[in-house]
Amino acid sequence: MVRLEIAFARARTQVCVGAGLLPTAEGVLTEAGPLRRALVVSDQTVAPLHAGPFCEALARVCPQHKLHLIPEGDGAKSLEQAAAIYDLLAAGRFARDDALIALGGGVVSDLTGFVAGTWMRGTRFAVCPTTFEAAVDASIGGKTAVNHPAGKNLVGVFHQPWLVLIDPVCLTTLSERDLAAGLAESIKHGAIADPDLLEWHRANRPQILSRDPATLATLIERNVRIKGDFVTRDERDQGGVRAALNFGHTVGHALEAWFQYQYRHGECVALGMVVAARLSVRLGLLARADADLLTATLEAFGLPTRLDTLPPPERLVAYIARDKKASGGRVPFVLLDGLGRTTLRSDVPEVLLLQTVRTLSA
Ligand code: NAD
Repeated sequence: MVRLEIAFARARTQVCVGAGLLPTAEGVLTEAGPLRRALVVSDQTVAPLHAGPFCEALARVCPQHKLHLIPEGDGAKSLEQAAAIYDLLAAGRFARDDALIALGGGVVSDLTGFVAGTWMRGTRFAVCPTTFEAAVDASIGGKTAVNHPAGKNLVGVFHQPWLVLIDPVCLTTLSERDLAAGLAESIKHGAIADPDLLEWHRANRPQILSRDPATLATLIERNVRIKGDFVTRDERDQGGVRAALNFGHTVGHALEAWFQYQYRHGECVALGMVVAARLSVRLGLLARADADLLTATLEAFGLPTRLDTLPPPERLVAYIARDKKASGGRVPFVLLDGLGRTTLRSDVPEVLLLQTVRTLSA
């Protein structure tokens, strides 16, 4: 098992990565300190697969625990689901040193983290991510949120997890599509911070796709280090450092919204990265061969890099402009200044963006 510590100004997250960790979690839980009460939140798909062995381990150190299930899917990131959890915490007289534990993908961890961050102004929170996306992205950095009818993730709070327990064995039950969607974020980390990681994906493709636990553990550890580095330098996403993690997300979000969330987030981010890399080439920042390498890496993992039917590019660009305006026009485009480095540019000509978006269906 590998242990990492992510240190923030006023909080620390201990991350443990190891095959077979969840069924034997009593060891790390004991070391992390006494636990009086715990509420495990999971979804209806994940719980039958992974809650049993984890809750048995938890019971050995914390007999007073409960399992609460939410429906699967992004619709569960709601104030109604949060209220149902608050009711359970109130009934169980939960205090700040009791723990909420998320066992699931990013939906479960965003909702559980939001409740933990707001219950008594901040209660202990642990995450056991069961999707690749959650292991390398959602569980690290303390962003938690529920959705509002006006948009995704509009109601949220920063609340750093105290423990993140990542067992790559959980990922063996993940659908191929969800594994690939999560890999988009890992490929993104390579593109923005570690070109060697891009090569590593390609060199270890068979082991990654066959979900060899040791390979996945190494890949997750590398990703946690990269994301941890970004988020500790800009915990509240105010200093511009975390913005680099949005590489591919500007066009990605517009595509997600256009297709009404029929595509996975990671699939839209893959398409968004292709556009952002090609824009970087057109602006003289990135070698064409490097943009092609990124596209080929995404394709090697079954991620989309082109669309047969492109939404009207003008509509996508209008969506992006509206999105930026809503944030005070301050959200610049994240481009690659060579592989492994990003630059934020707010001066991307609209005509160039339109031309580049059109290449997705060329
Ligand atoms: P998800 O949580 O919806 O999980 C995807 C699907 O896989 C669900 O149907 C789930 O039930 C199922 N599943 C989960 N683990 C499984 C397993 N081991 N075996 C079989 N099925 C399994 O999706 P996700 O991609 O993990 O998370 C997406 C959410 O995360 C979005 O709401 C997004 O906004 C959020 N997110 C948050 C952050 C952050 O920093 N907080 C970062 C990225 C994404």
